[in-house]
Amino acid sequence: EYDNRLWRVYERVNEKFADAVIDLARPGDIIWIHDYQLMLLPALIRDRLPTAHIAYFHHIPFPSFELFRTLPWKRALLDGLLGADLIGFHTYDYVRHFMSSVRRITGFEHHLGNVLLPDRVMKVDAFPMGIDYDRFFTANTLPAVRKEKTKIRKTVGRRKIILSIDRLDYSKGIPERLMAFDLFLDRYPEFKNQVTLIMVAVPSRSRLGSYKELKRNVDELVGQINGKHASLGWSPIWYLYRSVSFPMLAALYAVADIALVNPLRDGMNLVAKEFVASRSDQTGVLILSEMAGAEKELGEALVVNPHDVDEVAEAIATALEMPPAEQMQRNRVMQGRLRRYNVLRWANHFRDELYAIKKTQAELHGKRLAADTRNKICAEYRESRRRLIMLDYDGTLTTFASTPDQAVPDEEILNLLSLLANDPKNELVIVSGRDRESLERMFGGLPIGMVSDHGVWIKEKDGAWRMFEQLDDTWKAEIRPVMEQFVDRTPGTFVEEKDFSLAFHYRKADAELAAIRVSELIDNLVAMTAALNLGILEGNKVVEIKNTQTNKGQTAGLFTRRGGWNFIMAIGDDWTDEDMFSVLPADAFTIKVGLGPSKAHFCLESVTEVRALLKQLTEACVCPA
Ligand code: UDP
Repeated sequence: EYDNRLWRVYERVNEKFADAVIDLARPGDIIWIHDYQLMLLPALIRDRLPTAHIAYFHHIPFPSFELFRTLPWKRALLDGLLGADLIGFHTYDYVRHFMSSVRRITGFEHHLGNVLLPDRVMKVDAFPMGIDYDRFFTANTLPAVRKEKTKIRKTVGRRKIILSIDRLDYSKGIPERLMAFDLFLDRYPEFKNQVTLIMVAVPSRSRLGSYKELKRNVDELVGQINGKHASLGWSPIWYLYRSVSFPMLAALYAVADIALVNPLRDGMNLVAKEFVASRSDQTGVLILSEMAGAEKELGEALVVNPHDVDEVAEAIATALEMPPAEQMQRNRVMQGRLRRYNVLRWANHFRDELYAIKKTQAELHGKRLAADTRNKICAEYRESRRRLIMLDYDGTLTTFASTPDQAVPDEEILNLLSLLANDPKNELVIVSGRDRESLERMFGGLPIGMVSDHGVWIKEKDGAWRMFEQLDDTWKAEIRPVMEQFVDRTPGTFVEEKDFSLAFHYRKADAELAAIRVSELIDNLVAMTAALNLGILEGNKVVEIKNTQTNKGQTAGLFTRRGGWNFIMAIGDDWTDEDMFSVLPADAFTIKVGLGPSKAHFCLESVTEVRALLKQLTEACVCPA
């Protein structure tokens, strides 16, 4: 149901929470937001408390992109969540789905669980929620639990007990469970009067129409099955529509022979974990839905598809006949896992990851070119007589366009470069991955040096284009067909051919597909390129294959070695610029555009900030500081 009126209520509720949190929050607090009702809250708080520690945990499954994309408010939901520093899901599948939606809907890239936002890096990971293991494992020894166990035994007698506990929710698969039990009794009549299904359905959202409907359906099914199979003194289903006390819950877990947990969809499912933990003698069989997040950790259970009533009925029979030794063997492994990653470990792990990402953010933030450092750069610039300024072009002086041809320099940047280039104290060099023709076309009129193709060709201020080193290009005939195959299979990609390199561009391709294709392409090329003395460069939405003899570092070295510089500055945005940063003297100002690891000493957030810095430099010599 896509109802704008309800969406506005959702927004309003999130705003109310934001107001309440802002009133309460103190510096240093961790603000831990729970679940899908509050997906807008992280960003609402971030807007008002920019440095707060904000974490979010999503307790339900995150849908695949195919489903999530249908929401009219998908972007707002993602933007809301991306206000957090850390987002946790129960399983890696949900992480994948979320990351896929982020990449495809917002365009933000991620690497090893870190999402690179324009102003921040944030972390997304799987934290399977644990339980208070010891509480359930030792509950058997409590007198109140023993009392409840005795009461249950008195009612059920020596019959085997199948246990079903959940909120009465449509996601829990309760009608399907009842149908499977019915089928089981039809198919295995010898178990009649030998088993009892104890079904606890905890009332949930009972005022909603759809839940009322579900309740009616379940009541009817229970009535039908009891009516169909009951005999004197035996009702197959013992149905409790209420919540139960902890001693009763623990007693049920302890006396049951089988726990039948077959939700149609469940973020985690704690009942399954609690049942396993409660089995202090390690007997008992868990039948578990493959649609529950818990299945990822409890693979030793009898795993079923909750929609396959036939399979569930067979699993009940298998469980009833499973030898105790096998039951114990399965439970021992699951208990070990649940004991280790209990709820305390879960919470501590989550908190530690939050601190870790905050630390990463602080390190990156420390590199950001703050006003005082910018002023220092300007002061040094003003006082120096020989200055070397090396600038990358795409992603540094101009933002990326869909194809390289569209990313032409605008008037602002041409003016800035011209001002810098015409200062006789400056040696300005554009160090680019573009080819000679493009650079010549864009900057040929300026008195500057140019390096094309990531260091293959070089043109000094007053000179002509020459090759940095004699290179061979015969390898292209071998590599080009491989790349073209990938282009054929990946809409929106193309191969750019330069003198001594081939570049696979994928900016316009579906981001998710491109990520897969690029890693396949690299896998394919690694072996071929090693034999041919070629390197693979991963740039911004481009993979480039080129000779390893030359790179931006070697050409940068050519300029720096001339010596006599009082001021050196280099700015670039991708991996190819790292070669340049690494060869420059320690006192050079090296600046990376964007967040992420870099050898550069400083970073700037965007092309706009680079332009602002260059503007400040051009003004530094005319305006007093
Ligand atoms: N539970 C409860 N009262 C009851 C029955 C169950 O508090 O009468 C607890 C149960 O111990 C478990 C939780 O409710 O910890 C249900 O969690 P689960 O993840 O299985 O399902 P959810 O209700 O969160 O979808």
